[in-house]
Parts: sequence; structure tokens; C-alpha cells
Amino acid sequence: MAVKKIVMHPAEILEQPCKPVTDFSNKLKKLLNDMYDTMIEFDGVGLAAPQVGVDEQIAIVDIDDGSGTIEMINPEILETKGEQTGVEGCLSFPGLYGEVSRPYYVKVKAQDRKGRTFTLEAEDFLARAIQHEIDHLHGILFTSKVTRYIDEKELQEVEEE
Ligand SMILES: [Zn+2]
Repeated sequence: MAVKKIVMHPAEILEQPCKPVTDFSNKLKKLLNDMYDTMIEFDGVGLAAPQVGVDEQIAIVDIDDGSGTIEMINPEILETKGEQTGVEGCLSFPGLYGEVSRPYYVKVKAQDRKGRTFTLEAEDFLARAIQHEIDHLHGILFTSKVTRYIDEKELQEVEEE
């Protein structure tokens, strides 16, 4: 188990495009495992490599719905549909929450830790989490998409719904 330090905003690495991954070696597997440990430790539903100081196109998502952890290397959005608005937070912005509108459905092409290409479709909250993480790989932070910030009291009311 290796929990990494989360890069907090502001930091240059959070606002620049990440490099494509070309080396699918044990180093990548170790990084993915460490990212998983870090996401769980800090109670996140996703984590992107720049958030642990690595400027490569690697992101993981696990919304704790029993379907396991999605690992996305060099992900690319192929298609989106619809719209949803919901509250987001980010491990790089502790205590900050805001409403963000995103497509309801997303279709993504990515590679797994062995370099095999796969496509994946997601809806609703999973689609939101995936898009949030892919944005990180392009240096795009959720704060650039927030339409309304939510204070913690209001957030508790949302969570109780
Ligand atoms: Zn984030």
C-alpha cells in the first residue's frame, strides 16, 4: 500500500495537458495501484495522474457501485448525449463543491494497464466522474465549469436527499 500526496490547487501540473502513455511497464502498474490506494484513502470517486504529480494521461474511477475500478490510459471521448447537472468536488480542492452541467451519457475509448484498447459506455453519475477525470488530463478543472458553488450546509441537505 502506497498512498501518494495529493497535489492541491493551485499547481501548474493541474492546469496543463498531460502526455500520452507509451510505456506499459511495471512502473505504470505500480502507479495505478498507488493511485487506487490514494483514491480510497482520501475517499474519492476518481483520481487523475496529475493529482499525484505525474503529467501522463492516466485516470481511475470507482464510484463504489460494486462494478469495480475503471482504469483509463490515454482516454478519448468518442460520443456524448444528453445533459445532467449535479454537485461535484475534487480531491485537489478540499471542501469546495459546486454544480456542474455535463453530458448524461459518454462513450470513451481508452487503454488498460496492459495497453489493450477498450471502449466503455457510462451514464449518470459514473459518466460525470469519468468526464471529470478526463478533463484533468487536459488540464481542465471542475471550477472552470461550476455554475454555482454550494456551501457545506447545503451539501449536507443534498446528500440527505
Ligand atoms: Zn478532480
